[in-house]
Amino acid sequence: MDLIEQLVAIVGSDNILTAAGDMAPYLLDWRGYYRGAARCLVRPASSEEVSAVVRACSQAGVAMVPQGGNTSLCGASIPDESGEAVLICLSRLNRIRKIDLDNSSITVEAGCLLQAVHEAALAAWRLFPLALAAEGSCQIGGNLSTNAGGVQVIRYGNMRELTLGLEVVLPSGEVWNGLHGLRKDNTGYDLKQLFIGAEGTLGIITGAGAQAFSSAAGQRYLLAGARIAAGRRTSAG
Ligand SMILES: Cc1cc2nc3c(=O)[nH]c(=O)nc-3n(C[C@H](O)[C@H](O)[C@H](O)COP(=O)(O)OP(=O)(O)OC[C@H]3O[C@@H](n4cnc5c(N)ncnc54)[C@H](O)[C@@H]3O)c2cc1C
Repeated sequence: MDLIEQLVAIVGSDNILTAAGDMAPYLLDWRGYYRGAARCLVRPASSEEVSAVVRACSQAGVAMVPQGGNTSLCGASIPDESGEAVLICLSRLNRIRKIDLDNSSITVEAGCLLQAVHEAALAAWRLFPLALAAEGSCQIGGNLSTNAGGVQVIRYGNMRELTLGLEVVLPSGEVWNGLHGLRKDNTGYDLKQLFIGAEGTLGIITGAGAQAFSSAAGQRYLLAGARIAAGRRTSAG
């Protein structure tokens, strides 16, 4: 089996694109400065599928580029022009896995839109404080990989400060499970920090646990957000 056939066997033929026209929107960066090429675009739906895709590409010696919402402004989510790389889009990993009210934490898959994470936290009267104008398009995996800051960074910190644990598919295809909500974790090296801000160079993030605040400031923010959302619904009829 060639690589494309292997990838089809992993994700199904509906979740792999090979025609240049179909892939074109994913091969141009947000500002239209960088246009790349790829041998195919693949859309896995779980960390197991990401693992199998990565394993197949690694064994074939083929480069991979993970892509979240493609909103980063420096072209890093776009493959080069050779057309050799496999573009791995994470948008189907979009489940909220858990909200832990006792621990004030939220666990999500990497392809969740930032806005969806806000809304899930809001529904539980919690605040996930990373806020930036691309929130309707960018994904948590991209936020982690760029160590995004946003407009509340002074108060709450970057993604690096907000993250409690990660699940990452390593270049071999092995899944590294560092996904936990333990706050007082003083066991050796803090490996998750290696993957934050690494732009996918060390592995593909498939899941993340993060702080979800219940502070008074958070409640005020949530109320303001709820009022804005209610206003939107009203004006939309
Ligand atoms: C209007 C606008 C406002 C913005 N405001 C801010 C701001 O206030 N603060 C800020 O920090 N940024 C801001 N940004 C930049 C951008 O939104 C962030 O960098 C965001 O975190 C990128 O997320 P993304 O899902 O779009 O990632 P992408 O653009 O898809 O990818 C970014 C990098 O991460 C890698 N990657 C993506 N997903 C994964 C994954 N699951 N595992 C491993 N690697 C992965 C990609 O290969 C690439 O190297 C803004 C952008 C726009 C367009």
